[in-house]
Amino acid sequence: MYDKICKKCGTKLSDFYRTYMLGCPECYSAFEREILLALKKIQGANIHTGKMPKIANIDRELLSEYERLIKEKEDAALDGRFSRIKELSAQLVELSEELKRRGLL
Ligand SMILES: [Zn+2]
Repeated sequence: MYDKICKKCGTKLSDFYRTYMLGCPECYSAFEREILLALKKIQGANIHTGKMPKIANIDRELLSEYERLIKEKEDAALDGRFSRIKELSAQLVELSEELKRRGLL
C-alpha cells in the first residue's frame, strides 16, 4: 500500500491513521489532504453514531474554518495566486496548531 512519509520526523501516513497524531509541524503539509479527509470522517462519525468524543461548537467552527482554508488554498493554487497561497498556508499552520492544542488533530 502507498504510504506517505514526513521527511522531517519520519512519521508515516499509516501512523497518522492509527493514532491521529502528527510527529511535527511538517507532517501537516506532508499529509494535508489525508488530514482533511480524516477530519471529515471524524465529524461524520460524530454526527451519525455519537461514538466519537463530543466536539464542542467552537471546535466544530475551527474544523470547518480549517476545511474552508484548505479549499480556498486549492482554488488559489489552481489560479496560480501565489501570494494568496502563502497567506493561506500561514493561516493553516496557525489553525492546525490550535487544533492540535485542542486535541483535534
Ligand atoms: Zn513530521
